[in-house]
Amino acid sequence: MNYIVCHYHEIALKGKNRKFFEEKLVFNIKRALPKANFEFVKRISGRIIVKLTDKGLKKQAKIKNILKDVFGIVNFSFVDSCKPEIKVIKNKALEILKSKRFKTFRIQTQRSDKDFPLTSQKINEKVGAFIVDNLNKKVKLEKPGATCFIEITKNQAFLYTKKIKGPGGLPVSTGGRAAVLLSGGIDSPVAGFLTMKRGAKVVFVHFHAHPYTDKASIDKVKRIVKILNKFQFNSKLYLVPFADIQKQIVLKMPAKLRVVFYRRFMLRITEAVAKKEKALALVTGDSIGQVASQTLENIFAISEVASMPVLRPLIGFDKEEIIDLAKKIDTFDVSILPHQDCCARFLPARVETKADLKQVKLEEKKLDIKELIKKALKATKLLTISK
Ligand code: ATP
Ligand code: MG
Repeated sequence: MNYIVCHYHEIALKGKNRKFFEEKLVFNIKRALPKANFEFVKRISGRIIVKLTDKGLKKQAKIKNILKDVFGIVNFSFVDSCKPEIKVIKNKALEILKSKRFKTFRIQTQRSDKDFPLTSQKINEKVGAFIVDNLNKKVKLEKPGATCFIEITKNQAFLYTKKIKGPGGLPVSTGGRAAVLLSGGIDSPVAGFLTMKRGAKVVFVHFHAHPYTDKASIDKVKRIVKILNKFQFNSKLYLVPFADIQKQIVLKMPAKLRVVFYRRFMLRITEAVAKKEKALALVTGDSIGQVASQTLENIFAISEVASMPVLRPLIGFDKEEIIDLAKKIDTFDVSILPHQDCCARFLPARVETKADLKQVKLEEKKLDIKELIKKALKATKLLTISK
């Protein structure tokens, strides 16, 4: 088991981009794994192989957990390797299967080296017959007790019995950049995760009302970003002081519309950050109708301020589905810790569910929008958080 073979598939469909995608995936695997665990990572014949060091060999459980979070990998296996010669392959298959408990089996060969003298089917037959002779087991093609996979490349054959599911998606950093509005709640980390899953590298932007609220939301987003770094290794987190803007909104705007104004300012500021970061989209954790402020009417009145596309990966998700995902990616436990949400301050008894854009724009004339944004950006702090 001195190698890992990683398979991907969507990447392979990307035509001319294929090489670029594969190289990014190699790079990301190298970033994800501890340096001492591998000798090299490289692509050969439509797959990526990782040569493990002796240390890496002892850390299989840990490595498995890491690779489960590297987007672009559809499945991977810890494999044995041998010379691509039928006699050697037969013996290797025997050696592997000997140590397993099963009654029925099959051999499944994939031949990337088309110069290999036998077809995949012939290899299945020959190796299968050899196992039958030596181990006295039965071949069963449907639902066998064990499968021995054989992959033949130009210089090596790889053999294994177990495929481990990868996360799928596309390698992070192949799909441009996006800025995620990260609140410290349950939803926005999941929205960030789904954006990264499709290959985008994200920067995070958090709005807080410190010193009027405690620092809990800031501590929470720092922890959440650290957790999400398992998908993109390091992240920028912008912390935007929002209290001054909120004060103006509370003083001058109709109470029912406060949340809409908060969100409009958040989008404007995030877009300014995104421009600086050369990001091309903004991402929020909205899902239609989840809370009173997330009606389509309000989303319409809020998005209007952004010229970049506002992506909402959770738009069709139920809360339970979001929670399931949050648990899966390990952000849930931090998200549910208590914090004083900047937007929960001065929340009116009734929140507008059908904001009227005309009214919203008219009301906003009372504020010096440019100046407020300029000030907030000036006071914004940037943190770089590593894995
Ligand atoms: P979340 O669980 O992400 O907090 P939510 O269901 O509580 O979402 P809202 O509070 O209405 O919904 O927020 C909608 C979205 O607006 C959030 O998902 C997030 O993207 C963004 N947002 C809200 N508050 C903040 C904040 N303080 N900083 C950054 N983004 C925020
Ligand atoms: Mg929230």
